[in-house]
Amino acid sequence: TSSPENQWLGHPKGLFVLFMTELWERFSFYGMRAILVLYLTASVTGLNPGLGWTNAEALTFYGWYGFSVYMASLPGGYLADRFLGQKKTVLIGALLLAIGHLILAIQTMWAFYLGIFLIVLGVGLLKPNISTMVGGLYAQHDPRRDKGFTIFYIGINLGAAFAPIMVGWVAYQYGWHYGFALAGIGMLLSLILYIQGQKHLAEVGNFLGKSSDLEDRTKLNQPLTRVEKDRVWVLMLSFLIVITFWGAYEQAGGLMNLYAEQKTYRQFMGMEIPASWFQSLSGIFVITLGTAVANFWARNARKGRESSSLAKMAIGTMIMGSGFFFMTAAALQAQQTGQAAMYWLILAYLFHVIGELSSSPVALSFITKLAPAQYASIIMGAYWAATGLGEKLAGQLGAWSQTWGELETFTGIAVFCILFGSLILLLLKPLKRLTHGADDHFAETT
Ligand code: GLN
Repeated sequence: TSSPENQWLGHPKGLFVLFMTELWERFSFYGMRAILVLYLTASVTGLNPGLGWTNAEALTFYGWYGFSVYMASLPGGYLADRFLGQKKTVLIGALLLAIGHLILAIQTMWAFYLGIFLIVLGVGLLKPNISTMVGGLYAQHDPRRDKGFTIFYIGINLGAAFAPIMVGWVAYQYGWHYGFALAGIGMLLSLILYIQGQKHLAEVGNFLGKSSDLEDRTKLNQPLTRVEKDRVWVLMLSFLIVITFWGAYEQAGGLMNLYAEQKTYRQFMGMEIPASWFQSLSGIFVITLGTAVANFWARNARKGRESSSLAKMAIGTMIMGSGFFFMTAAALQAQQTGQAAMYWLILAYLFHVIGELSSSPVALSFITKLAPAQYASIIMGAYWAATGLGEKLAGQLGAWSQTWGELETFTGIAVFCILFGSLILLLLKPLKRLTHGADDHFAETT
């Protein structure tokens, strides 16, 4: 769609604008999140005073925060589709995010709640729409499209990889509020880069009502066919996988973050590793292992082995879930010796990411392939809602672990994910029949 002079490295230049905007947006998001529960639970009288909440209180808050952030994507997407267009909505989102993060740097309670509220609104406006804009850079059947999303995904994880190290270090050395300020500076950079790059985004994100939505309105009252009804059933099941997946995986910024802080021996070569640094591992593993995991599944497909989206989502959930057995080992070691070794956390995150790379990129394309056209937007919204429920579940499980016991919770999550994934694999044949061939062509590589 774009002329050769408007390209760089074989992709529209707009891709790199969106790449940098999202990189710094995720920098602020994951930088702030890496220290959030640590700040909430830090004692009010310590050297670096926090809010002195209990673990359970902090994890409950973490769950509500994740839930709100993803639920806000529903009105965020709607506003862009119907009233503002994606480009303006992303701009407003970026602005609110920058203000929200910077307000967190102020040390009062009203500033804390106002900052979090603005961040929720900001992510809701920015996150769903910036992804839509990436899609809008390419014509419908442009073969570079999947590659474009892969590059964008790397941007997300670059931000997620180095934010906890930098924000975590500043928060640890100078105080939590300096960490929040650094996240805010990252978001300001995101905003500036987005405004600067507008000239490369002339053609995307302007239009109200995606063409599919316009068609939708004329089709809207038609009843679903039997095939479409079958597909909706499979979709609902895939949402259960989404909820389970993030409900387990997102222990990362919550319970596992507190576990690193409170129960992990973090001395290394004469220095103490800040707990927040472990939050960088997921991003680092996504970047380093992304190609290998994608190649593994592509090779499987070429050899004619099982590589349907549903199977990948089920297997991904099982691999991710089995990572929690390393946390079981950590909890056992902590019970015996008082503290767990760092490598348990590293191994757990490694398995979490191998599971994520198998499952999460295919989930979204699976949904777009199965959704009946007239419900495409609603079903995409339901996907964000499922992610939000997963985040809430993650926080809630973390809070409950404080009465159930961490050992029991980690083990329970692992066992549940493995059983749930196995059940889907057992039912794979009939489930695939219900998709009526919609999942037969697996072009996804991201
Ligand atoms: N890590 C991904 C991102 O930030 C997905 C997170 C999620 O859906 N819970 O975009």
